[in-house]
This record gives sequence, structure tokens and C-alpha cells, in this order.
Amino acid sequence: MERFLGKKIYGQKVAIEGQELKHLKVKRIKAGELLEVLTQEGWFLCKFEGFQKDLGICQIVERIEYTPRFPTITLYQCTPVHLKTMEDVIVGVSQAGAHRLVPVISERSFRDKKTILEKLPRWEKLSLESLKQCGRREPLIVDHPVELSKLETTSDLNLVLDNYQEGLKIKDLRLEGVKSISLVVGPEGGFSSKEVQMLKDKGFIALRLEPYTYRLEAASLVAVAILTNL
Ligand code: SAM
Repeated sequence: MERFLGKKIYGQKVAIEGQELKHLKVKRIKAGELLEVLTQEGWFLCKFEGFQKDLGICQIVERIEYTPRFPTITLYQCTPVHLKTMEDVIVGVSQAGAHRLVPVISERSFRDKKTILEKLPRWEKLSLESLKQCGRREPLIVDHPVELSKLETTSDLNLVLDNYQEGLKIKDLRLEGVKSISLVVGPEGGFSSKEVQMLKDKGFIALRLEPYTYRLEAASLVAVAILTNL
């Protein structure tokens, strides 16, 4: 079934507008067709009624219930020096099932916080587009940037992906009872040894993916995909 992003609910109706209206037209959705529509109040199964001026009008049939996925994975991604790479990270880990992405400023990352903040609307848009494509129910949350030195072990399992160390291997991980995972991934130039030590001192466990070194966008995608499938 086709999926669309709606905005507000008016009584028993949802309006589709803007870019989404264009998609509705391109896909030649006809009156009477059933659609899944995401609104600020969640997902609804809707029947498309037709166009009114600049709106596509849908009649709500029922709310779509879903159970959130566990463990939730928060990806702390050190911002790539080539900032555009963050877009590949977002699209990848959104499909793979990460719950939240936090851009992290580290020694070797892109470090201009103002520019990162300016990118957030674009990254949130990509997260929503990816949700439509891959079928997940909740969008990947894209959070405000934080400094690596401020990270704390707030999850049940706290991992730092490190290609230099002999860390834990995926096959050693046990996720029974784990409801939340934090995963820290480095920028193109990796972490400094001081940074890795600082994270370990805070309780992050180093995890190594075998057998080679991945580009950062591949490392985050592979790690999230494996963790969601364990
Ligand atoms: N410049 C680093 C080097 O020369 O080894 C490579 C950094 S890698 C491109 C970027 C990040 O991806 C790393 O900091 C790490 O977080 C993650 N990464 C890539 N391959 C990995 C692996 N095999 N195991 C664990 N982490 C990996």
C-alpha cells in the first residue's frame, strides 16, 4: 500500500499537501484507494477522496497500531568532514532500524556546530523520506549535535566502533535483556587514541567489525543492521 506524509487531522480527514501532493499525483492515486498516512498523531489507514484546490483529502478509516522495536539503537555519529556523507549515514541507518541519530563533534570530525544545526532540517527530511520507502513506523530521530567528551553511558549497552583495537566481536555480543544500545562511530579519520580511552573509561565497550576497515557510512550501516538482527 502506498504511504504518504500528511499534516494535520481535521475531524475524520487528513490533508496531503506540498511535495507530498505531487507524489500523490505522480502515483496517480484514485478516489477510493486505501493509503497509509503519517500525521503528527501517528499512522492512519485512509481512503483517498480526491483533490480540493491544493490539497489531497483523505478520509480516516482507522488508526494503525504498532509496537515499538527493541532494543532501541542510538547512533552517535561523529560528523564526517565531508558533511554530505551524513546523508548516506541517515538513509542507511534509517533503513537498518536505528532509533535516533546524534551528530557528534570529535577531534577529527567536521566541527562547525552552526553549519551542523543548519543541516538538521535537511537531515530530518531525509529521515522522513526514508521512512516512507522502507516501511518503518517511526522516523529516525535526528538530534542536535553534542561534543564527544560529553557522551555518557546512558544505555543498557554502550559500544564504540573502533577499527584499531582488538575489541569485542559481534559474535561475542549477548543482547538478552538489553532494551537500549548506544553506538559511537568515528569520522573519516577515526578517533584519536585519547578519545577511545576516554570513552572506555566512561564504560563504552570497543567493538570491532571483521575482517577489514569500512568507510564510516558503511560501518554505521553494517553495525546497526547486525545489531537489529541479532
Ligand atoms: N582512518 C581510519 C584508519 O585509517 O584506520 C579509518 C576510520 S573509518 C573510515 C571510520 C570509522 O568507522 C572508525 O572510526 C570506526 O568507528 C568505524 N569503523 C570502520 N571500520 C571498522 C571496523 N572494521 N571495526 C570497527 N569500527 C570500524
